[in-house]
Amino acid sequence: MIRANDPHLHSWIEIAPESDFPIQNLPFGIFSTPDRDPRVGVAIGEYILDLCVLGRHNFFELIDFDPNVFHRPVLNDFIAMGKPVWRAVRNRVSELLRNNNEEISGDSELIRECLVLQSEATMHMPVKVPNYTDFYSSLEHATNVGTMFRDPETALLPNWKHLPVGYHGRASSIVVSGTPIHRPKGQTKAADQDTPTFGPSQQLDFELEVAFITGKETPLGQSITPYEAEEYIFGLVLFNDWSARDIQTWEYVPLGPFLAKSFASSVSPWVVTLDALEPFRVKGPEQIPKPLPNLEALGNRNYDIHLEVLLQPQHKAASTISHTNFKHMYWSMAQQLAHQSSNGCNIMVGDLYASGTVSGARQEAYGSMLELTWRGTQPLQLPDGSERQFIQDYDTVIMRGHCELNGIRVGFGEVRGQVLPAIQH
Ligand code: MN
Repeated sequence: MIRANDPHLHSWIEIAPESDFPIQNLPFGIFSTPDRDPRVGVAIGEYILDLCVLGRHNFFELIDFDPNVFHRPVLNDFIAMGKPVWRAVRNRVSELLRNNNEEISGDSELIRECLVLQSEATMHMPVKVPNYTDFYSSLEHATNVGTMFRDPETALLPNWKHLPVGYHGRASSIVVSGTPIHRPKGQTKAADQDTPTFGPSQQLDFELEVAFITGKETPLGQSITPYEAEEYIFGLVLFNDWSARDIQTWEYVPLGPFLAKSFASSVSPWVVTLDALEPFRVKGPEQIPKPLPNLEALGNRNYDIHLEVLLQPQHKAASTISHTNFKHMYWSMAQQLAHQSSNGCNIMVGDLYASGTVSGARQEAYGSMLELTWRGTQPLQLPDGSERQFIQDYDTVIMRGHCELNGIRVGFGEVRGQVLPAIQH
């Protein structure tokens, strides 16, 4: 077992039982405050541990790397150092935060220097994303969408159970949680019209997804097997793949999603390492037919992560509109990365691979408004008395995720985004 995952560990920092950030988690992110420029931190309870400060005080001197890598506005250079370094740093941070360790806890001035309240910090994009891929790996989601856009008989296209279907998305418009999203504009064509019109989307949606970030590159021509794939994965974030359904319906044939998706995607700021998720591995659904040999991945390749979506109308309380679990995904992250590289396409440090909408079997587990309201035909009733077919201006969408086992909760925090009206030019 990875030492830092031991459920018996306790920190000298007081951590509420419902916190997503106990000593067993220690996710990495980029933060700043009025007097600290953007740098690498680790979330612990309500605080952020400033790794830049710890590096300056030589707390990582037994690990073979340059701790100046923590004084960067993105995690890319740190994660490029490889899994042995990430793992050693996480283990060292765990040691420094344990209740029997006084290296920091015995020095009140140092505590003030290296701990920042999350409420007083600004979070930034954790990585510079060179490439972004979006998969389509939930059987329930693909079946729902296929049923609505085609018919129940041909809901799943013939390739779906043979490969993890995906498309190349737009990296430039991925933003960190809290960044407002302007309603996209685009070309749409109503079913009863002969010609399209251009204007703000009338069917703005979210997609509940989990994304992984790679921390190791491959040269052109080389492929990764599903069994090697986890060595390439640094960690996971929550991902809202904002989608404009009316633009999508008109544009997507034959080349797939384009402007209906590329206007924005939002990520949670803390990258939960694959190491921290190790105790929450589970077996995925049985795959019939058996995947071809280069996609075969026996063993526990899925992760038990509870997911939820909340919708908050302006000046009103947020309410849960969906809850599901990442463990139901048909194709695992290992298979997705193996498939991505199977043609010899090179993998880069900081690449982001999103799961596709995570939907469960029952209606309350659907991961998009498209499915929750069945393309707008069954509007959601909100506690404030209002109805939603899709997302309205000034609504805020919030996604949360956490794992829980043996009384230990390892969470992601949240990704939130408010929708602002379209900019008219
Ligand atoms: Mn998506």
